[in-house]
Formats: sequence, C-alpha cells, structure tokens
Amino acid sequence: MERTLAIIKPDAVQNGHAGKILDRILAEGFAVRAMKLVTLTQAQAEGFYAVHAERPFFGELTEFMASGPCVPLVLEREDAVSTWREVIGATNPADAAEGTIRKQFATSVGENAVHGSDSAENGVKEGRYFFPESEIV
Ligand code: ATP
Repeated sequence: MERTLAIIKPDAVQNGHAGKILDRILAEGFAVRAMKLVTLTQAQAEGFYAVHAERPFFGELTEFMASGPCVPLVLEREDAVSTWREVIGATNPADAAEGTIRKQFATSVGENAVHGSDSAENGVKEGRYFFPESEIV
C-alpha cells in the first residue's frame, strides 16, 4: 500500500476548513496513519521546501508555511500519491478542476490550502520529516 504526505496548510486551518478537508480525505478512501497540529518554525518550513530554495517565491512560501498552525498527515491507500494529487487539483486554484480541494478552498497560487507529495519515494521521505517511525501507525 502506498503512502503520501499531505499538509492542510495554514490558510485552510485559519479559515476553518481543516475538518471539511479531513472529511474529504476519509471519503476518498485514505487511511490516516499519522496526523498532528503544528506551527512550523521558519527553519522547518525552509527544510521541507529546500528543493524550491532557488525559486523567487521561496521566501513568501516558507513565511506563509510558518505563519500559523498546519496539519501534516501521512495518508495511505492504493495509488495514494496520484489519487491525492487528483483530489487536491492544480497548484494554482484558477487552474484547478471543479470538485478539487484547491478549487474549493485555495485562495491563491501561494496560499493553496493543501500539499501533496509528488512521488511515492518523496511521500515516505516527507512523512519522516514530520513524524518519527513510532508516530506512524
Ligand atoms: P505542493 O508541493 O505544495 O503540493 P505543488 O507540487 O502543486 O504544491 P510546486 O510547484 O511544488 O506545487 O510548488 C510548491 C508550493 O509553492 C505550492 O504549493 C505553492 O504553495 C507555492 N508556489 C508555487 N508557485 C508559486 C508562485 N508562483 N507564487 C507563490 N507561491 C508559489
């Protein structure tokens, strides 16, 4: 069974959408293997998004990710990575398909409600970034 790392980002938590997004996660057949509410430090946000360090939006992105509580989750189901990316929709909510989480809840390309890993390998790696093995059930 495949795992992916989802994050309900600070905008969605702040706007009161975390419960609805969790409902959607369960309705899509994902099992939650780990979950917590945490406010990232700037350094933790920069570490998580290190791959984007050279991008012009890196400062904006990491400040946003450290701006308030977020909810990282390890999700498991068959084809977890591609299924979750379909459910969340395109990075920019203006391009996101009807019925996707970003279409429904994202406010901008930067503040786009949720994260999803882009490969099974990164799903495992990103899960470990937030949770020790003992906290993934
Ligand atoms: P994520 O990795 O969060 O699931 P993604 O894979 O859809 O998103 P990436 O291109 O990996 O998109 O960008 C990572 C994150 O950086 C985006 O989710 C978004 O929050 C932010 N981002 C991307 N492009 C921009 C931009 N042009 N301006 C501001 N923020 C951006």
